[in-house]
Amino acid sequence: MPAQLISGTQLSQHLREDIARRAAALTAQGKQPGLAVILVGEDPASQVYVRNKVKACGDAGFHSVLEKYDATMAQADLLARIDALNRDPAIHGILVQMPLPKHIDANKVIEAISTRKDVDGFSVLSAGELMTGLPGFRPCTPYGCMKMIESTGVPIKGKHAVVIGRSNTVGKPMALLLLQANATVTICHSNTPDLALHTRQADIVVAAVGRRNTLTADMVKPGAIVIDVGMNRDDQGKLCGDVDFSAVQQVAGWITPVPGGVGPMTITMLLVNTLESAERI
Ligand code: NAP
Repeated sequence: MPAQLISGTQLSQHLREDIARRAAALTAQGKQPGLAVILVGEDPASQVYVRNKVKACGDAGFHSVLEKYDATMAQADLLARIDALNRDPAIHGILVQMPLPKHIDANKVIEAISTRKDVDGFSVLSAGELMTGLPGFRPCTPYGCMKMIESTGVPIKGKHAVVIGRSNTVGKPMALLLLQANATVTICHSNTPDLALHTRQADIVVAAVGRRNTLTADMVKPGAIVIDVGMNRDDQGKLCGDVDFSAVQQVAGWITPVPGGVGPMTITMLLVNTLESAERI
């Protein structure tokens, strides 16, 4: 039997109805949730991402501002803008779209965002909160993946989870969230000699690599939950993930599609973080 689809689009729709209700309640109290999105440069993919994020804010009844700057923007000017947004009471979340132009130190920029408004969850403090199990902003992509895994109804506790990829924004926080949910977690990366040896033992596989066909059907345990974070292009230029979807679908128990999987959930969790920030501030 082919795997059941975990639709990020459907799950997002359901979650966003609740988000919109909570946002309306806050707005009625004079505290409309507000997100500021900053884009520096003209990267085409980033332009699409920020447009989608701002549109999602509007649809959920949030206030949002999109600030676009030339790729030559000085780092000091960007830091000054963040400082102003940190002090703006209408803004509860600040997102600086990555990647930034090379002359700007991304770490400095991330750390300049007030920890109360770090809705991307990329700061050292947010990472430390996740690491130590304290409440705080969770990075949106792995947070969304957790919601998708939970939506299957399969208990995570006691399962073996394999995360492929160890970036600070996806792989590492994903592994920590699974660990917090009492999975036994293996993290694989480009120096892992035999990736299939690990993935074949996994009840849950999260692929966050950025290379298509990284996970093929022979690497998957029958019935496993497969979450595909990757965003790549196939030979026809169509969007695809890291997973050989059509073949893995015949083996896995649950699988996320690309597009329509992790992408929409990432934006949904950005809304959740911004909403919760507004509820807290
Ligand atoms: P990244 O920073 O480039 O990290 C990729 C990771 O994959 C690295 O840890 C790397 O290992 C590992 N890797 C590379 N080749 C490998 C191999 N052959 N076997 C095992 N591991 C390998 O990328 P990222 O930011 O985490 O993003 C990963 C993918 O997710 C990208 O396609 C990105 O576009 C996508 N993404 C999607 C969303 C969404 O909302 N849908 C959000 C974020 C990212 P090393 O550490 O050893 O180099």
